[in-house]
Amino acid sequence: MGAPPTRPADRALTKPRRRLTSAVAALIALLAVGAGVLVGLSTPAPAPADAPEREFSAARAYRNVEVIAAEPHVAGSAANDRVREHLVATLRGLGLQTEVQDAVAPEAGQLSGAAGGATLARVRNVVARLPGTDPTGKVFLVSHYDSVQTGPGGNDDAAGTATILEVARALTTGPRPRNDIVFVLTDAEEACLCGAAGFAADHPLARDGGVVLNLEARGSTGPVIMFETSRNNAKLVEVFGKAAPHPVGTSFAVEIYRALPNDTDFTAFLDRKFVGLNSAYIDGGAIYHTPLDVPARVDRGSLQMHGDNALGLAREFGRTDLGDLRAGHDDTYFPVLGGLVSYPGWLTLPLAVAALLAVGALGWLLRRRGRATAGTLAAGFGLTLLPVVVAPLGAWLLWAAITTIRPGYAELLDPYRPVWYRLAVVALSAAVLFCWYALLRRRVGPAALAFGGLAWLAVFGVLLAVAVPGGAYLTTLPALAGALAGFAALATRRDGPWPVVAVTLAAAVAVVILLPPVVLLFPALGMGMGAVAALVAVLLGLAVLPVVDLLHPRAGGQRGLLALRARRLGALPAAAAALAAVVLAGVGLAVDRFDAAHPVPTHLMYALDAGTGKATWLTREEKPQPWTDGYVDGTVSVADDFPGLGNSEMRAGPAAAAPLPAPKVDVLSDTRTGDQRVLRLRVVPQRQVRLLTLHVDTSTATVRSASVAGRDVPVEPGDGRWGFGIVFHAPPPEGVEVTLTLVPGSGAVSVRAMDASDGLSGVPGFRPRPPDVGVVGSHSSEMLAVARTYPL
Ligand SMILES: [Zn+2]
Repeated sequence: MGAPPTRPADRALTKPRRRLTSAVAALIALLAVGAGVLVGLSTPAPAPADAPEREFSAARAYRNVEVIAAEPHVAGSAANDRVREHLVATLRGLGLQTEVQDAVAPEAGQLSGAAGGATLARVRNVVARLPGTDPTGKVFLVSHYDSVQTGPGGNDDAAGTATILEVARALTTGPRPRNDIVFVLTDAEEACLCGAAGFAADHPLARDGGVVLNLEARGSTGPVIMFETSRNNAKLVEVFGKAAPHPVGTSFAVEIYRALPNDTDFTAFLDRKFVGLNSAYIDGGAIYHTPLDVPARVDRGSLQMHGDNALGLAREFGRTDLGDLRAGHDDTYFPVLGGLVSYPGWLTLPLAVAALLAVGALGWLLRRRGRATAGTLAAGFGLTLLPVVVAPLGAWLLWAAITTIRPGYAELLDPYRPVWYRLAVVALSAAVLFCWYALLRRRVGPAALAFGGLAWLAVFGVLLAVAVPGGAYLTTLPALAGALAGFAALATRRDGPWPVVAVTLAAAVAVVILLPPVVLLFPALGMGMGAVAALVAVLLGLAVLPVVDLLHPRAGGQRGLLALRARRLGALPAAAAALAAVVLAGVGLAVDRFDAAHPVPTHLMYALDAGTGKATWLTREEKPQPWTDGYVDGTVSVADDFPGLGNSEMRAGPAAAAPLPAPKVDVLSDTRTGDQRVLRLRVVPQRQVRLLTLHVDTSTATVRSASVAGRDVPVEPGDGRWGFGIVFHAPPPEGVEVTLTLVPGSGAVSVRAMDASDGLSGVPGFRPRPPDVGVVGSHSSEMLAVARTYPL
């Protein structure tokens, strides 16, 4: 294949200077658009403590963050009681009807709990109501006030809880809203979403449903993203775009979120047919669920954004008619320069098909005009797959290399200072794209390569429209804009300014649509999945190629030595980007070292069988850090000895037995009728614990039905010896009553009781961590479990 022929009329822009001026102007315009995109994604300035009383003030909210997150306050703990008392006092101080819902609640949805059993918790939700003047329904502002056991939860979710307190304060200062506003500060979210599930299922105020606004954080900074909605969201999205002062949200996030293992209280409400919006800030994920999630780590800008949006939405939902919020369809929506663009989801497939047809028509036109041949168009399309595949692969290899140099990254959601690595991935993507372009531009021709990029964008658009409709806009709209720009360029004089204007406008559309996901995917997925951001970066690069091409001399314009020089110049951007990738990765490694303020995370647990006196150190680290490695020397499956810890393989090592008692199992009654036996048991912890489990050896009895604290729980047979189990979070000191209806075998029924507390400092053989060694943010870090088998 040869370069397409150059016509005499093409000569004008062949003048290198004029071409270069156009290129620089176009790139400056694109950089300005990119800067605008970044400003649109930035957080607002935090309002001071003396801000007007009807407004939200991050400074005022932060005072409550400090009280709530003064220490870890996991559900059931004394610290949790203190936080709850503060919340109740604060809400009552605002004149709101406030109560505590004290209940035993099951977990929400089909979350993973005990294999073949049920998960429940004793929860104490704080519920306050601001009655509306003429209510058409209820608006629920929801956050969880409990923290994980390992950290005080400054961001997760003291920030959300303090935001709701400040929103409640602002709402009680002005005229009363038309609709009821209910403030729901839930308990035991971290354990099992049980607080929210208990509220949604059992609380009288939840009976008629309503609109839920859930506030969360999975990090410490960054813009608040509205990342989840109930189904048929068009009307909710319309209100969001209108009433949230900083409407950062995209229908693509919903699709991403579904692929992630995270869950929030919002799930419990969706199970109950509420409608609503779920918002969180997610950058700075390194401290998520760790001891470092302290109030000082809360970004006041993110806090302000949470509050501005929550207050705006509460006011708007507080005045609209809540009767008909369920639209017939979902919307596609995405942020555009500080605003929100949305269109009905049913347009997704027609638009994607239109984009594909438009790009096809552009190819046909390019051929007719002699800008490309069937061969070069086919080559452009086929060869564009190279950067699409190579850049993500390169990002994956780069991170594999970095984690080989720094294995401590394995247990982190994201590095402490990820920005250098993110930029390295972007530079690497650019290097791949530039290199590919420099190699193929003369052989295939810029028009055919631009066509190849647009064609892949359009193809992805159709695939996404079918599989992940909320994300189809990402490639459909840039493809459509690129095709239209191509038509415009072909319809105007080639030596005039319009072709440059047209391709620049199309590139600007791509920047507006594809830059936010590049920026947001890094914190959303972490560096381990930086390849996804690299893919989107390459798609953005492909859409911007016609502008980048202006930097190159006109194709076919030179001969001989000039062409050679041009080719060398063409390699320059690729070399520069590759060098930048290496330098940025190196800077990242130099800057983001582990130290006392940024400790390497380690995971350790201690498990004791009080019956046999056998004790074990356990870690979930696959390749244990040096500190952890001092405790473990092999791998075990915990399913047999500690079914309450799940059924995974863990690294383990022998430990000295601590003189700790297992929970007692008291038989309250034992009745037999026919082949059935009904055992009424009370499982009583013998020390201050966070959770209690009871498992039945299903080779000694078949479990027909079970109830916990008077609540029937589902009975589904699980795998392994302990085929039925109950996990109970935040058990009261007097223990938990369990009734089992069984069909026993010939011998005794075997049950295994386990409880767990937090903190290993008193355990024999435990050596405190050095300052630069920290704790993994997980629900089992520092757990101390004691188990015992009872024949009944
Ligand atoms: Zn959490």
